[in-house]
Amino acid sequence: MEEVKVLVALGANLGERELTLRSAWECLSKNENIKTIKLSKLYETEPVGGPPNQPMFLNAAGLLETTLTPEELLAALQEVENKHGRERKIHWAARTLDLDIILYENQIVNEPNLTIPHPRLTERKFVLIPANEIAADMIVPTIGKTIGEIYNEYVNPLD
Ligand code: ATP
Ligand code: CA
Ligand code: CA
Repeated sequence: MEEVKVLVALGANLGERELTLRSAWECLSKNENIKTIKLSKLYETEPVGGPPNQPMFLNAAGLLETTLTPEELLAALQEVENKHGRERKIHWAARTLDLDIILYENQIVNEPNLTIPHPRLTERKFVLIPANEIAADMIVPTIGKTIGEIYNEYVNPLD
């Protein structure tokens, strides 16, 4: 099967956040169907949405190549989340690890449990800033613009 390029968002706001993000990336690199290409810097960000008084997040973006289908990749990401103590209770609650698929090559996926490109991508500085660092040229097919162009529109004016 062919390899596709995937942009992933990583986030953590509980526990040893940096260790968790680096360990999660390492876990993905050990998956025989995933080749990790690049991890962005780690950015500390304010929590957005969810219950009040959450701790600060540490966010990053990662670029990988995989032969997994979008559904298979989601399952692999959730396995890594679970391995790092992720609990699923309240939506948008504090979590040890969150791994989201932002882009899967230039494909559009609309399944009940999987939407790609990630639908809240453009409202999230904490996604666009690290994504722009490592994947400015990737195209967001639903918008017809690159990550870099979207970053310049949505993030730069807010800085
Ligand atoms: P948000 O989607 O707003 O970032 P979240 O990451 O906190 O919220 P989760 O509780 O981690 O949401 O995940 C809820 C469900 O979202 C997952 O079980 C998964 O099926 C679904 N989902 C839909 N699209 C995606 C995607 N692109 N990447 C990861 N999960 C997705
Ligand atoms: Ca998320
Ligand atoms: Ca998620």
